[in-house]
Amino acid sequence: MGICRLCNRSSRFISDSLGVCLQCIRNASDEALEVAIECHRKSRAEFGLPAEPPMAKDGIRCTICVNECRIQEGSYGYCGLRKNEKGSLVGVSVHEGKLSWYHDPLPTNCVADWVCAGGTGAGYPEYAYYKGPEYGYKNLAVFFHACTLNCLYCQNWHFRQETLRPETRTAEDMFMAIDNKTSCICYFGGDPTPQIPFALNVSRRAVERYKKRILRICWETNGTMNRGLLNEMIEISLQTGGTIKFDLKAWDDVLHKVLTGVTNERTIENFASAAARSKKRPSPPLIAASTLLVPGYIDEKEIRGIAKFIASIDPEIPYSLLAFYPHFYMRDLPLISRELAYRCLHVAQEEGLKQVRIGNLSLLR
Ligand SMILES: [Zn+2]
Repeated sequence: MGICRLCNRSSRFISDSLGVCLQCIRNASDEALEVAIECHRKSRAEFGLPAEPPMAKDGIRCTICVNECRIQEGSYGYCGLRKNEKGSLVGVSVHEGKLSWYHDPLPTNCVADWVCAGGTGAGYPEYAYYKGPEYGYKNLAVFFHACTLNCLYCQNWHFRQETLRPETRTAEDMFMAIDNKTSCICYFGGDPTPQIPFALNVSRRAVERYKKRILRICWETNGTMNRGLLNEMIEISLQTGGTIKFDLKAWDDVLHKVLTGVTNERTIENFASAAARSKKRPSPPLIAASTLLVPGYIDEKEIRGIAKFIASIDPEIPYSLLAFYPHFYMRDLPLISRELAYRCLHVAQEEGLKQVRIGNLSLLR
């Protein structure tokens, strides 16, 4: 049970640590943002991460993501990976990153497993080994230990404990993890965004080395990267049969800022640009989308906005609605009801999307 500090209403659909309700986010956006910023500040201070993207006039500019930090001497950028040391940015590079990896037997629980090559055989024989699920092969899951957003419901929040640690892994190490049974590599996290140059470096080497066999390059991302990096991701996924999975977290920008700390503008622009190329290779899908149904915050109105947007570009783009599980600063919220999840599914179909589904049905109440 949480209380909204603006309207004093209490409800189990209000996150107490966030301290503001959906109605106030929509009707009193400036005040709601102020309340939300406090929660973001607190959640980031716990891990030594900057409260907001630094904007020092004389700072070094990092243009990898939407935050476009200007990092002053002795400080870190928002994601916590790059530091201004005596006037130059140090930290991760194309050769070194903050990440970990493991193999998952296919078919795995990837957000696009219901449509992707490894999960269904879509694109066989060019992009998949079998006409059905790729049993006997593996996904190399590459987990990056930093993010460009600060979602208050982050399900992998523990990566924050690793972001500022000095240890790095090399591109060579990750390259060596790709074995003969690896048929796809999926970059996730955190988010791949702050370390896309590293991921592209290893991916290009791997694709060249294994060009005679199937090796798909896939991404699970919040879509906040710069356009140049996005284009390089699209190229390599297009070529290899990989899927780029965009997590579209909220349609309303104020709500997006409340939940993630950052605007959705770049994500929306990038999705539109990438999705416009989805017809270049429809099977397996180049682009897929997902939205987490956060109880009390992501409702039919949000889903309608996102679904309409996706359908206006290409109604064939697969869209997953993901069931919520309480984590991080929103661990006091309940599970999503079956009824609301199905109402959202119908809304997405009404807006014209041809492929919509609810992921993790077992998490519905
Ligand atoms: Zn309220």
